[in-house]
Amino acid sequence: QVQENTNVQQAVNPTVHTIFSLEGKLALITGGGSGIGFDIARCMVVAGASVVITGRREQPLQEAVGLLAESRTGAQAYYKVNDVTARGSLDGLVEEIEAAHGPIDILVNNAGINMKKPALEVTDEDFDRIVHTNLNSVFSLTRACAQRMMARKRGSIIMISSMAAYYGLDRVVAYAASKSAVEGMVKVLASEFSGNGVRVNAIAPGFIETAMSKTAMGGDPDRFARAMRRTPMGKFGKPDDIGWAAVYLASEAAKYVTGVSLPVDGGNSIGF
Ligand code: NDP
Repeated sequence: QVQENTNVQQAVNPTVHTIFSLEGKLALITGGGSGIGFDIARCMVVAGASVVITGRREQPLQEAVGLLAESRTGAQAYYKVNDVTARGSLDGLVEEIEAAHGPIDILVNNAGINMKKPALEVTDEDFDRIVHTNLNSVFSLTRACAQRMMARKRGSIIMISSMAAYYGLDRVVAYAASKSAVEGMVKVLASEFSGNGVRVNAIAPGFIETAMSKTAMGGDPDRFARAMRRTPMGKFGKPDDIGWAAVYLASEAAKYVTGVSLPVDGGNSIGF
């Protein structure tokens, strides 16, 4: 009996590994120098992809350099300084990356900012800054990558959205507006690109332990308790919970999945 089980496992495992493998693929991940973006990069490297991560900071985190050490598949990790709000730079960024490292197979639009203020205190400048980062630049970079992916008839584009796109969370008016718009964009792009082999999906994280969520909670235990009451699993998620979801959406295992937003939220989306 034991022998039989072992044989079954041996027969199944290679298929499982192959279908989730990103070996030989190149991923561009914005805002990958920290938080969720960093773990998306780490999970993709473990799955065999080479990654280019971007951010405004001059130096990548030490850990990001360590990504290379994790790779057992010959995958590489590179860091590039780029501010996604410099929309005029994004075509050049894609061109430069492809010239140096080959075709981009996976784009993860992860870079994002938030700000907590009651709506009536939000200035036009605040609103524009958030929408510019979380929405406008996502469109520009996606267009730059998608043109090339469609010509090659393959590619996977993943937007990091938020449950703020679905629910009326307080004091995040610009953030919620930007993420809801990204969700709308996913459906249109999925529809337009699907004939050319390019899939477009979103991941909608719930409360994930990062610098952004720590700032949002402001060290306030009441706020934390309220967030946990809304979360059936009763705990924050980890950045790699989003990373593994991104590996799935980028892989062959999701080859018939496009135009969806996948909640990874400890059950938040069941309803408040
Ligand atoms: P962090 O603040 O920890 O990380 C954000 C990353 O985005 C940083 O690496 C930052 O790098 C980068 N970034 C910000 N602005 C720019 C810019 N203009 N150009 C390039 N890079 C930029 O946040 P998280 O990791 O928590 O968030 C990642 C994504 O997940 C965001 O889109 C966020 O909205 C989403 N999300 C997060 C949730 C959470 O609970 N944490 C919940 C739901 C969604 P640098 O400073 O070097 O530019």
